[in-house]
Amino acid sequence: MTTNPLLAIDDLPRFDAIRPEHVAPAIDALLADADAALERVVSDAVPADYDAISAVLSVATERLGKAWGAVSHLNAVADTPALRAAYIEALPKVTAFYTRQGGDERLYAKYRAVAESPQATRLSGPRRRALANSLRDFVLAGAELQGAAKRRYAEIQERLAELSQAYSEHVLDATDAFAYYASADELAGVPADVVQAARAAAAREHKDGHKLTLHFPSYHPVMQYASDRALRRQLYSAYVTRASELGPAALDNSAVMLEIVRLRHEEAQLLGYRSFAEESLVPKMADSPQQVFDFLRDLARRARPYAERDLDELRRFAASELGIDELQAWDLPFAGEKLKEARYAFSEQAVKQYFTEPKVLTGLFHIAETLFDVSIHEDRASAWHPSVRFFRIERAARDAAQATQVVGHFYLDLYARPGKRPGAWMDDVRSRWLRPDARRLQTPVAHLVCNFAAPVEGRPALLTHNDVTTLFHEFGHGLHHLLTQIDDIGVSGIAGVEWDAVELPSQFMENFCWEWDVLKRLTAHVDSGEPLPRALFERMVAAKNFQSGLATLRQIELALFDMRLHAEPGSEADIQALLDGVRREIAVVDAPAFNRFQHGFSHVFAGGYAAGYYSYKWAEVLSADAWSAFEETGALDAETGRRYREAILEAGGSRPALESFKAFRGREPSIEALLRHQGMA
Ligand code: ZN
Repeated sequence: MTTNPLLAIDDLPRFDAIRPEHVAPAIDALLADADAALERVVSDAVPADYDAISAVLSVATERLGKAWGAVSHLNAVADTPALRAAYIEALPKVTAFYTRQGGDERLYAKYRAVAESPQATRLSGPRRRALANSLRDFVLAGAELQGAAKRRYAEIQERLAELSQAYSEHVLDATDAFAYYASADELAGVPADVVQAARAAAAREHKDGHKLTLHFPSYHPVMQYASDRALRRQLYSAYVTRASELGPAALDNSAVMLEIVRLRHEEAQLLGYRSFAEESLVPKMADSPQQVFDFLRDLARRARPYAERDLDELRRFAASELGIDELQAWDLPFAGEKLKEARYAFSEQAVKQYFTEPKVLTGLFHIAETLFDVSIHEDRASAWHPSVRFFRIERAARDAAQATQVVGHFYLDLYARPGKRPGAWMDDVRSRWLRPDARRLQTPVAHLVCNFAAPVEGRPALLTHNDVTTLFHEFGHGLHHLLTQIDDIGVSGIAGVEWDAVELPSQFMENFCWEWDVLKRLTAHVDSGEPLPRALFERMVAAKNFQSGLATLRQIELALFDMRLHAEPGSEADIQALLDGVRREIAVVDAPAFNRFQHGFSHVFAGGYAAGYYSYKWAEVLSADAWSAFEETGALDAETGRRYREAILEAGGSRPALESFKAFRGREPSIEALLRHQGMA
């Protein structure tokens, strides 16, 4: 047992030593410890004292969390059949533990006793916030319900889990059910690699032609590039009717959606809220459905003239250059792409030659070092792949008597490879925490994962501008986790930050990628070493806001639909009528009558975005407005950087996001900066 690396994570996980056969015994042992800790902490042996609870329960759950985090991480970046099997076997046991803990009435009573004791008034601000968050989450998990209400709450949870699973399966099965075998002529205009992939897919089935599907890598380029209008219409029609009453009854989501929304309202009413929207906003930054409605409608009103202008331009271009007199939904991506090419002609391929990975990383670290009073150094640690790098963040000594202080560490895993999940993300390895068991400060560690094209022999990796933006985004999440100065694990770094504010530090970092003075230092042509030409940069910036008015209204349409559906009990009885009403109010482009977008809106019906889709725009307002402070003083102004670090990054979840924002900006957030950045002011 002593050789199991998952049971010995005292410092960093030994990623190179963890084997699939370690998972079951380690997780079983750690779950047993965590369960024992839970039983002990609710007993009389442990007083209603914050530190006493933390020393027993948090220590045990953190050990479990670190080991499980290492397993989940390896499952995401170094997947093998054996590891996946071990992961899938352990997953329900781990989930069940957290559900058990989240709804445990005895633990809830213990925390309440802490909150009601004289000791509570002496708790630090961050600690009071962590305690209040815990109590809130217990209530939302039904811990205060009794008897029949409690049983009904549990039934609803179980049924909702089944329904959202069914909703996803219907969307996936309906997506998979469609295939069309196109001729070479029909694919005129489609990029060669997409045509080749479609041909290969047909050949694998011993069929002629080119297999087109509704999966993103096939559907998207056809809609964007195929000049055959009938083909676009056919694919569009199939896509927007997936899992609806217009397709096979077995995959129709209509009844599933109705039941999901009804159950959500019932759950909210059991908990004492008028609607699910009200319940959903309790742990979020937005105060009320009305505040979200006002926000969305104000943004729509401001974006509307720009969207009308975008559409007008597109209509005129389509009529004069593409011979399309009446622009339809299935023409929009195609005509948009053609207009963009005509207006801003530049190639991603050409831009890429200027962004070499070493130059971009050095530039990124330089920004963090200049603004946030840290230095970043390469370090060594056991990893899961030879290309993974490890870095240490330090803060210099204030004077000769002080030693250099280690702030945190991060792993950097940049390249795509087999067995690695696509996408980019930040994940925590461990959090900053003044440990109650050892009275020592644990420094935070993060994973930064991307999926860029790996370098080819003898040349540095080349990043697209989009790759660079992605790297800055994830690094922003990383800084939020790593630069925190909060010692309580429940609210240090990203922990406890409201869900609709958590993208502030990440989206904030993206702005540097659009700043000429910063960008020119990130670039050096891979062959000539020349920086990015200014004229090319200007074309990139102009293309950035292409059709931003239309894109904004589209996002508002979805967000308003989601919010009204969950704020107006009864509206679910006719979901189509609700969506039609939202479109009449917001959209400038008519959706065809057969469009059943809502039947595939997985974010809201099967994901975590119910009464939360507005968060995308909400967080953009915060990040754009935070960035506007740097526009006033200069992107690399150290004093503005210090204030941003202290107010936003260091405070983490220790206070409401609005307070942190006001501490930095000296006022409430304003929508003006977002409109200006997107060319709508
Ligand atoms: Zn993010």
